[in-house]
Amino acid sequence: METTTVNYTFKAEVKQLLAILAHSLYKERDIFLRELISNASDALTRIQFEMLTNRDVLDADAELAIRLETQTKDNEETDAGDATAPKVLIIRDSGIGMTRADLEKNLGTIAQSGAREFLSKLGSGQLDPGDMIGQFGVGFYSVFMAADEVRVVSRSHQVGESAWAWVSDGSDQFRIEPAEKAERGTEIHITLKNDAAEYADAWKLRQIIKKHSDFVRFPIFVNGEQANQQTSLWRKNASEVTADDYKKFYQQLTYDFEEPLTKIHFASDAPVNVRALLFISNKREKSMISARKEPGVMLYSHNVLIQEYCTDLLPKWLGFVDGVVDSEDIPLNVSRETVQNNRVMKQLAKTIRGRVMRELKGMAEKDADKYNMFWAEFGRALREGIATDQEAKDEVMPLLRYATSQSDGKLLSLDDYIKQMGEGQTELYYVLGDDLKSVAHSPHLDPFKARNLAVMYWVDPLDAYIAPMLNEFQGKKFRNVDDPELELPAKAEDKPEAEHSDNAAGNVSDVDFGILVSRVRQILGDRVTEVRASKVLKDSPMRLVSPKDDFERERGRLNRFFDREYKVPKKMVELNRNHPIIVDLAQTLNDPLGSELVDLSIEQMYDSALVQEGLHPNPADMLPRIQRLMAAALKRG
Ligand code: ADP
Ligand code: MG
Repeated sequence: METTTVNYTFKAEVKQLLAILAHSLYKERDIFLRELISNASDALTRIQFEMLTNRDVLDADAELAIRLETQTKDNEETDAGDATAPKVLIIRDSGIGMTRADLEKNLGTIAQSGAREFLSKLGSGQLDPGDMIGQFGVGFYSVFMAADEVRVVSRSHQVGESAWAWVSDGSDQFRIEPAEKAERGTEIHITLKNDAAEYADAWKLRQIIKKHSDFVRFPIFVNGEQANQQTSLWRKNASEVTADDYKKFYQQLTYDFEEPLTKIHFASDAPVNVRALLFISNKREKSMISARKEPGVMLYSHNVLIQEYCTDLLPKWLGFVDGVVDSEDIPLNVSRETVQNNRVMKQLAKTIRGRVMRELKGMAEKDADKYNMFWAEFGRALREGIATDQEAKDEVMPLLRYATSQSDGKLLSLDDYIKQMGEGQTELYYVLGDDLKSVAHSPHLDPFKARNLAVMYWVDPLDAYIAPMLNEFQGKKFRNVDDPELELPAKAEDKPEAEHSDNAAGNVSDVDFGILVSRVRQILGDRVTEVRASKVLKDSPMRLVSPKDDFERERGRLNRFFDREYKVPKKMVELNRNHPIIVDLAQTLNDPLGSELVDLSIEQMYDSALVQEGLHPNPADMLPRIQRLMAAALKRG
């Protein structure tokens, strides 16, 4: 075991990181304070947690606090004339402390992979190093943005450990040496760079703390005076909290620059004691610099942080909800397993989930614009809810929103859809596809347009997945428009479109059409289940319908989306014998020179239909054929 001073060299990645930090911009420097205070706060949280079950620690009764102190080097405070004497900032905490081995590992060797990751992210984007550093477990090193030298003196909470110091000037070495420190905790002595002397200005420090660390749960003193609010905002009455406080709290919790989309602040004592402050952000994707690295809410009991990322209170699909849940009913002598299996936790989970769902429902009813913003970002999460969580279906179905073939881009709830249904419509129609543009031109819509029936556009990949689970809403069945068995209500002008009068312009004889059908069968072979004339198509030459009893038809699409092994599903081909392309094809069949053109056209029509359906494995594969088609067409023309 070491008893004397030992010198170490930083790993290459860390050296590189330190070099970047030493030359970073002044405007980013403030955040080193946030990082050091956040480390101090973590250390206090950890000792608080430790003492729940173990009182046998050094200084068990010490106040849990963070203290900042400013000095001029060698205590020359009185010597006002010496403006060049280096300024010193000391940050002290009564947290868990570090042993010699901790210092070596936590501030020396462990940072390697974080530094590497940080450097690669930095290299790939335009991000400021200051903004993102905390995310990679290398936040401590940000101190070198402002420091010429750093001396970390720490004494572990473990009785019998002595104090050690970690010292570095941030170039390529550090040393660890024995030190004097009577109390538990960590003290960071920062000798400020000349151009960073402002961090020895108490007023400036208070400003930064207000901005970045106001809601740290432990008091932060600057030269003896408390600088942070230190309120557990969630424990206050909603009526006592200003909008600005909510925003600041959210921003300090997440580092999101924007305001949250919505907040949920509530308290209840039965059936379980709970104070909670939850947020839904504006964006589903967390930004690179998010302070919240994982899903889950912070779980407190009696103002002690029990779990930083608690995922047992909300189902996974509601993982986008962030914030704090505090319950006095959770026993404090907890381990992670007991937290999970606790009866109180179950009640708590039920309460929290109910409250979140109520918020969404309320938003959907009262503020459609806001809800649509939510839907655009988190609609997929709700679909995941239906896909993965039995209980979710009834809660979530009223929250679904879809554009329809008649809504002009406007989003409708299922309720709205049912309200706009005309007499005779008894089922809920949807069309699946990759995007709004392609479904809007879907051949399946022909008979619906003719009957003035609205069709919901289901273009999220998960829509296909949940379609069989939805089954029905308000007693009305969901029906895919590609279903060949669909019985549609009669058209207004009751002219059955199956009827192909022989004198219709450009019509094709039964014989010619029959030959075309067998040619299509021959070419598409066992890629399709059947080829037949359509009774419903109007504006499109061909469509693909699902054979009856094809239960996997919706889910098959997902493989394509998730890049799994994907097989183009076998569909039934319907041809529109009144469509000019089909008519021309049938006639070209008799032309010996047109044979290549016919075959290419059939292949191309089939591929186009697959693209239309969102089923084509790789549309770029069509390009060589399209060239051949053009060549053949030009030759003939
Ligand atoms: P992170 O906080 O993300 O782990 P940092 O670079 O900020 O990364 O800190 C590295 C590690 O150093 C911490 O995880 C912790 O173990 C240790 N550490 C830093 N500051 C303190 C402190 N004030 N008290 C105790 N341990 C600390
Ligand atoms: Mg940190």
